[in-house]
Amino acid sequence: MPTHTVWIDPELLLEHESVRVFLTYKEDDYDQGTRVYWFTVNPQCGELDRLCDDQPCRHVFDVRELSTWQPPAQPPFCTGANDTPENHAAWERYREHEYAAMLTTIRTAIERGELTSRGRIAVSEAKNRETTASSVSAGADPLPAEPSITGKDLDHS
Ligand SMILES: [Zn+2]
Repeated sequence: MPTHTVWIDPELLLEHESVRVFLTYKEDDYDQGTRVYWFTVNPQCGELDRLCDDQPCRHVFDVRELSTWQPPAQPPFCTGANDTPENHAAWERYREHEYAAMLTTIRTAIERGELTSRGRIAVSEAKNRETTASSVSAGADPLPAEPSITGKDLDHS
């Protein structure tokens, strides 16, 4: 009997300023559980399958790479003398704080325009785009006095 893989939408983590952020799953396998730090703004794009037209796909991102990421302070690792019930409880509390920090990080990144429904935008790239847009709208002059942004400058991603 052939097996049949059923596509299911990922779980929604949050929606903020009409940007929807979804969970991702280990090897795109729902039964293997979610990735802790990896999210996607496109439900079609996961850890392995990226069914969008963007090359490279920008929809999938690591929350720790956002400029707004501020993790809580970690307790000591549960090894040796620190392998105590108190320290295990401290780690459980840490996971809750970290989860709250991830939500805050993502919301703030959306508010700053770093994370959009099209994916993660590098801060320097967002600046370049603004510069390019303003020089284009200014530009009836075929010989601009200032050097314009060249393809070389934009093509560093
Ligand atoms: Zn994508």
